[in-house]
Amino acid sequence: MVSGVLVVTGPSGVGKGTLIENLRQRVPELELSVSATTRKPRPGETHGVDYWFLPDEEFDRRVADGEFVEHAAYSGRRYGTLRSELTERVERGVPVVLEIELQGARQVRATMPEALQIFIAPPSFEALRTRLVGRGDPETLQHLDARLQTAREELAAQDEFAEVVVNDRLEDAVVRLEEIMRGAMR
Ligand code: 5GP
Repeated sequence: MVSGVLVVTGPSGVGKGTLIENLRQRVPELELSVSATTRKPRPGETHGVDYWFLPDEEFDRRVADGEFVEHAAYSGRRYGTLRSELTERVERGVPVVLEIELQGARQVRATMPEALQIFIAPPSFEALRTRLVGRGDPETLQHLDARLQTAREELAAQDEFAEVVVNDRLEDAVVRLEEIMRGAMR
């Protein structure tokens, strides 16, 4: 059994979501922290499953009320981890995974140094670009340059992380993630 908090970070488009989905099939007790965001749902995304989609005012109010463990602005939108996604699970000993960008991971590192942090890197910058474009989402394409610039900055920060997993072959990356997790979260 594993317990504790796992933070998976890395640039947008690197495949954090798919990796986590696969990891959760292998580690069924691992629960996902559903983030809050002010961006609009993409087709197929569901409120409360993929994100808590909140209006700006409600996001602000929750920030003011101290409801977030971390929050950050990303590509003109806001994203954050609600305390309510973690507290009760941690108390019950249920392991929980956060999929967040770099600024949020840094905040969690400062406030929850006991959380395991893993940075997911692409095999190359080109591979990342191809994946972001291939997603075909109009909002991503509209902000592609900004997202690529952010990705460049995020990639430069990977040395801050003791654990870096390169997402080249999905299966290999998932196996490596599980190994690191089982080694550290006991
Ligand atoms: P997307 O809009 O593509 O779903 O997500 C954009 C970026 O925001 C991704 O890198 C994603 O990991 C990150 N993100 C998602 N949820 C959170 C969160 O709760 N906090 C932070 N800091 N970043 C998040």
